[in-house]
Amino acid sequence: MKKIEHIGIAVKDFAASIQLFEKLLRVPCYKTEIVESENVNTAFFQKGETKIELLESIEEDGVIAKFIAKKGEGIHHIAFEVDDIEKEMHLLKTEGFTLLNDKPKKGADNKLVCFLHPKETNGVLIELCQEIKT
Ligand code: ZN
Repeated sequence: MKKIEHIGIAVKDFAASIQLFEKLLRVPCYKTEIVESENVNTAFFQKGETKIELLESIEEDGVIAKFIAKKGEGIHHIAFEVDDIEKEMHLLKTEGFTLLNDKPKKGADNKLVCFLHPKETNGVLIELCQEIKT
């Protein structure tokens, strides 16, 4: 794993939260993108090397809606950048971590992603992400 690529934050009011983070970070949101596979709308902010990803559910009982119902708004996951996601997934699996998806899937912001089950990571949902090279 190379560095923290982004931190994902679950929010209820997408538009208000974008405004809030623009004010807080003093940078404009550079992209919003719907991720169909996760039923979420995402908004990205770049601050130095790290990004903030806001996540809004676009489905009543989607993963983000369920998360907010259970824990309230707040930090949802921490994403680490990797060079070779398949290799990292294999390594982590052999070390006893549970992967939430067997194959890398297409995430937001031009990334292949995989999540680790938080039961083995102190309750923190970890995302691996690899830039899709075009
Ligand atoms: Zn993410």
